[in-house]
Amino acid sequence: MTDQLKRYYFPNLSVRLAIVDLENVQRELLERHQYPIAYASALVQLASAAALLRSTVKLDGRLLLQRKEPDTNIQWMAECNHRGEIRGVARYDEVYADRDPATLPGILAITLEPERGERYQGIVAVESANAQNGLIVALEEYFERSEQLPTKLVLANSNQRAVGVLVQRMPQTGGSVESLDADGWNRVQVLLQTLTPAELLELDAETLLHRLFHQEQLQALSVQALRFHCSCSEERVKQMFISLGSHEALACIQADGFATVHCEFCFAQYRFDAFEMGAWFAPAAESHRTQ
Ligand SMILES: [Zn+2]
Repeated sequence: MTDQLKRYYFPNLSVRLAIVDLENVQRELLERHQYPIAYASALVQLASAAALLRSTVKLDGRLLLQRKEPDTNIQWMAECNHRGEIRGVARYDEVYADRDPATLPGILAITLEPERGERYQGIVAVESANAQNGLIVALEEYFERSEQLPTKLVLANSNQRAVGVLVQRMPQTGGSVESLDADGWNRVQVLLQTLTPAELLELDAETLLHRLFHQEQLQALSVQALRFHCSCSEERVKQMFISLGSHEALACIQADGFATVHCEFCFAQYRFDAFEMGAWFAPAAESHRTQ
């Protein structure tokens, strides 16, 4: 089985582990687009990271990662929700198409949107100095500074597949700290660093974890199937037009008589004509809108 997120826990170390494997999701993220290879790779890594981060949050909702390069149009977005639905898109600038996006400095926004409750956003710099690990370093810093949760990530991807592992030291609640293996967190990090990208991409999760951590007690917690799914819908596009107001919405109607919207994530197309749009702004629809 591919396209899964598996969660584990080291009870003696108070460390959690998540491992993500994207194959169909990767294909669907990329197949509709013509991204330069490096941009595709950066997108797939961001999607893997979104799934791993999402697994650390108990709330129902979506976790969105946005990486932007200032002074350019370059941007990557990837999100994963509690149902394991992933979508993502890269916007790139032809001027920079030949450059490795990993060498461009930028910012990373981590947004948590619960279905109920407050939206939360944290922002962290992606340094260009550490080209290969810019995203990973930024995420680890975010957890260390904002969440006070020491975290390590590894990500690897090929043409077919993307795999990532997250380990995170949990705050110790109850029980005595002495009962925990004091060196455990260091040991987990060192073992994780021994992983090569080839091992990550070739081995299944069980083999990988056994190879690394066979001397540790490791509990399997859950397995979640992941899939590409775009949350766009005719209703959402309609609400977007309504929020523009009648003047601006009707101004979107082109010479063919339709206001047409293409979803940049899944390329779905939504078309509305003047008659349909006019009805949204008729008095009955107006009172409904302001509720
Ligand atoms: Zn869509």
